[in-house]
Amino acid sequence: MDIRTGFGWDNHRIAQGRPLILGGVPIPCDFGLDGHSDADLLAHAITDALLGALALGDIGLHFPDSDPKWKDCDSFVFLKHAAKLVRESGYRISNIDSTVIIQRPKLRDFRLPIRQSLSNALELPLDRISVKFKTAEKVGPVGEGLSAEAQAAVLIVKP
Ligand code: MG
Repeated sequence: MDIRTGFGWDNHRIAQGRPLILGGVPIPCDFGLDGHSDADLLAHAITDALLGALALGDIGLHFPDSDPKWKDCDSFVFLKHAAKLVRESGYRISNIDSTVIIQRPKLRDFRLPIRQSLSNALELPLDRISVKFKTAEKVGPVGEGLSAEAQAAVLIVKP
């Protein structure tokens, strides 16, 4: 069995008048995340982790933010593209672990909807998708409410 791991990280600036979308789920909030696409940083981190496991570059290589085609794009387009590359390479996703680091709002009520959203998009059982939330203890740009981050680790396997 061929086993590969991938890691992804993303960071977006917090901005007024923008949506806050995490793992495809719109989160009611008085601010959102700035970005060329819909700025779904959790989707971006998982996309980069999948591309990383395949050693196929990063999200910016596949979907350049200089291309107006991806303006305000649904980030699940990127995520599903990476999952398709995994399948086409003969692998399947074993599991995903991820963390969103944001000072507020509290996200615990959104854990299940986000996991379900990712499960649907990736055609992966719910118990193979972990989503964790942390604050930055009010320290640094995330803690001061200037930005938010996400990290993701994936395992892909080829029988
Ligand atoms: Mg991003």
